[in-house]
Amino acid sequence: CQVGSPWCYRSFYQLSSSVSSLQNESREEKGYKGHGMLAPFTAGWQSTDSHPLVIERSEGSYVYDINGKKYLDALAGLWCTALGGNEPRLVEAATKQLNKLPFYHSFWNRTTKPSLDLAKEILSMFTARKMGKVFFTNGGSDANDSQVKLVWYYNNALGRPNKKKIIARTKSYHGSTLIAASLSGLPALHQKFDLPAPFVLHTDCPHYWRFQLPGETEEEFSTRLANNLENLILKEGPDTIAAFIAEPVIGAGGVILPPKTYFEKIQAVLRKYDILFIADEVITAFGRLGTMFGCDKYNIQPDLVTIAKALSSGYMPIGAIMVSPEISEVIHSQSNKLGSFSHGFTYSGHPVPCAVALETLKIYKERNIVEMIQAISPRFQQGIKSFSHSPIIGEIRGTGLILGTEFTDNKSPNQPFPSEWGVGSIFGAECEKRGMLVRVAGDNIMMSPPYIMSPKEIDELISIYGEALKSTERIVDELK
Ligand code: PLP
Repeated sequence: CQVGSPWCYRSFYQLSSSVSSLQNESREEKGYKGHGMLAPFTAGWQSTDSHPLVIERSEGSYVYDINGKKYLDALAGLWCTALGGNEPRLVEAATKQLNKLPFYHSFWNRTTKPSLDLAKEILSMFTARKMGKVFFTNGGSDANDSQVKLVWYYNNALGRPNKKKIIARTKSYHGSTLIAASLSGLPALHQKFDLPAPFVLHTDCPHYWRFQLPGETEEEFSTRLANNLENLILKEGPDTIAAFIAEPVIGAGGVILPPKTYFEKIQAVLRKYDILFIADEVITAFGRLGTMFGCDKYNIQPDLVTIAKALSSGYMPIGAIMVSPEISEVIHSQSNKLGSFSHGFTYSGHPVPCAVALETLKIYKERNIVEMIQAISPRFQQGIKSFSHSPIIGEIRGTGLILGTEFTDNKSPNQPFPSEWGVGSIFGAECEKRGMLVRVAGDNIMMSPPYIMSPKEIDELISIYGEALKSTERIVDELK
C-alpha cells in the first residue's frame, strides 16, 4: 500500500483498534450501515462499511446520538450553532413565522417583512465600513457564487469586460458549488471535478509557521506575500483582475490566523490596482473571533461581505452578502438599463430563516455576545494551548472561540506523520469515544464551540482533549 493513498488510509482505518472498532462500538446498536444517502464530504466505504454517527437531538452545548450517547459539540455543528442546541426563542420565532406566513418570495418587487427587517439589521450591525444593500441566499456557497456574479455584473456595467478574474488563497474554503469550490484552495475540492474554473487564481496561504523563510519576521512574511500578490496581478494584468476573496481567519483549511500587518499590506495592493475585496465571513461573523465581525478585528474595509452560519445560529439555512453603496448603485442603474437584476433564488429572503435570524441577532445584542465571548475565550484558548508541548503537536492556533491543532512529528511544519497513520483521525476517534465531537481534516483538528459554553463545559472540553491527546501520543509511539 502506497504511503498517502486513500486505500492505505482506509485499511489502517479499518484495522486500527483505536478508530474503527471504537467507532462501531458506540454506533452499532442502531446502525445505519449501507444507507441510501450520498453523504457530503464522506468516502464511499464509510457509508457502506461503517456506521455513520446519527445525531438525534441536542441540548445546550451537547448533542445525542440515536443510541443515547451524549457528546460535547466542540464544533457547534459545522461552526454554526452559536446559541447551542435548544434555544427556545429561535424555535418560537420559526413556529410563529410558519404559522403566519410559511413562505413568500422576494422576486419582482414583492417581498416579506422579515427579510426587509433582517437586511436593515445586518446593515446596522456591520460597522467596519458603511455597506449599501443585502442580498439573501440559502447558505455560504451560493452566497460566494453570487459575489462573483455581482462583481462581473458590476464590471460589465462599468465598461470593464476584461476585469473578471478572482484571486483566492491556497488552503481557503469558500464552499462547494462550482464557483465556490473553484475559489477554495483545497485540492480535494478540485480533483476529478474539473476545477478550478479558469478565471480563478490562487495566491499564498498566509500561514507563518508553515511558510516562513529562515529568519523572516511575521511582518516580513506579510510583506513577501503582499509582493507575491502584486507580482501575480502584474503578470496577469491588473485590468483582468476583478476581486480578491479571503476569510479573515481561514477556517476549514486549518484555522489559520493572518500574520501581523498582513491585511493592511494586502489591502494596499488591492487599492492600488482597483481590485475589490470580498470578505468571506461565513465562519467569523457575529462574534466568533471575539469581535462582531472578522473585518473589525483585522481592520478590513471590504467591498463585499459573505455571511451565513451564525446568522441564524444554524437553526435555518440562510446566507447573505452585503455590497458596498458604490456597487449597489451601479447594480441598480445597470438593472434599470436591462429591465431587471436577473439573479436570485426561490428561497432568497425566505421569511422563516429570516425571522429566525432576526431573533438570533436580537439575542446576540441582548446578551452582549462579543463581551461574552471575550470573557470565556481566554479559558478555552489558554486551556488548549497548554498542550502545545506535546511531542506530536506541531502548532496550536486560535483566537476567540475558534481553534486548530496541527499534528506533526518533531514539532516541525516539514515533518508530517505518514498520512496512512491517520493521526488526526485517531485523535478525533479518541475524542468521540470520550463524548466530544471535533472536526478532523487530515492531521488538522478544529474546534469552534457554541458561544453559550459555560466555564465548566470549557473545562470538560479541555479535559477530554487532554485525555484524547495522551491516548493518541501512545498510539503514535506504537506506530513509530
Ligand atoms: N465560506 C466559508 C468560509 C465556509 O467556512 C463555508 C462553510 O463551511 C462556506 C463558505 C460554505 O458555506 P455553505 O456550506 O453554507 O454553503
